[in-house]
Amino acid sequence: MSKRIHLYDLSRSSLISQVADWGYSEFYANQLWDNLYKGLLIAPDEMLGLKSELLSRLNYETVTETLTLKAEIRSRDGHTTKYLLNGHDGQSIETVLMHYENRNTACVSTQVGCAMGCVFCATGQMGYVRHLSAGEIVEQVLFVSRELARKGAALRNVVFMGMGEPLHNYESSMAAVDIITDDKGLGLGHRRITLSTVGIPAAIRRMADEGRQINLAVSLHAATDAERSLLVPINRRWTLGELLESCRYYSLKTDRRIFFEWALIQGENDTPEQAHSLGKALSNLRAHVNLIPLNPTDGYDGSASSLASAREFQKILIEYQLPSTIRQRRGIDIDAGCGQLRQRIELFNN
Ligand code: SAH
Ligand code: SF4
Repeated sequence: MSKRIHLYDLSRSSLISQVADWGYSEFYANQLWDNLYKGLLIAPDEMLGLKSELLSRLNYETVTETLTLKAEIRSRDGHTTKYLLNGHDGQSIETVLMHYENRNTACVSTQVGCAMGCVFCATGQMGYVRHLSAGEIVEQVLFVSRELARKGAALRNVVFMGMGEPLHNYESSMAAVDIITDDKGLGLGHRRITLSTVGIPAAIRRMADEGRQINLAVSLHAATDAERSLLVPINRRWTLGELLESCRYYSLKTDRRIFFEWALIQGENDTPEQAHSLGKALSNLRAHVNLIPLNPTDGYDGSASSLASAREFQKILIEYQLPSTIRQRRGIDIDAGCGQLRQRIELFNN
């Protein structure tokens, strides 16, 4: 299997070269691309408009589906479904579908585990296992698209907010962005994609220079170096100042506002002092803050802030003209916090 080509790893231009190597024209590569991304087809034998010798090459030399569904769990309100998908090596990752009216959103993972070690995060508590390939990231988007297509619905947004740090797996994450935004395929607009990162300044600058206009969400969680270093250990490597400078660069280059994520932890980062520090820290940025009460995990003692303290926090941000939204974690009853389904299932497997 490892020697086979994973078709979802290939951009349209790479697919055209691959198909040319096999002796077929661009016309056939485009037909294949159509079958993959418009037809959402998996098995070559179901694909239309391809020559039979090309089909047998596809059957013997390539793969499409490498992830298999291991568990599926739906939130009580029916709006969120979480899928645990197993890779070819038996490692599992989480993909989430949130369906609200017409705003169907896929939340995809970019790594098995994560090396960043944020103390409140179930994925961080697991440690780093491996990067996902571009194909494995694209496959999650296609998986969700097929689930929606069965119900006559279509995917609208993709968030890179599942397990893992997308900018630590930069090449695969960006290759996946390019494939899912290709206008001859799934054609998702850049503005429909949000990448959430713990904040790696050099990677944020690189992304800005490469000109993809995707939304950037930065997981801040604290607005002083001392506090952030406790919650988000990589802050010891790249300071808040460096991070915010790179965010400013991204915002100016792409003409976009930046989203900042803040998991409200009672008595920890929901204090008036932190709110004032945040207001000051973001004063020269076009920013929007998402305040999300902590989703408790087994490996961390903290608890979620009350709605009343979230509102107090928000009031202080208003003094700084800093827009914010208090977000309920969607699908809280199904462990929809980052990495928590896998944690729970593995508890049962041991
Ligand atoms: N690694 C990236 C994306 C995956 S985490 C990042 O950190 O941004 C997606 C979001 O979930 C991040 O904002 C992260 O801080 C947040 N998160 C992780 N665990 C959480 C928890 N237990 N409660 C609330 N938010 C959490
Ligand atoms: Fe990794 Fe994001 Fe979890 Fe931090 S919050 S450990 S960066 S997945």
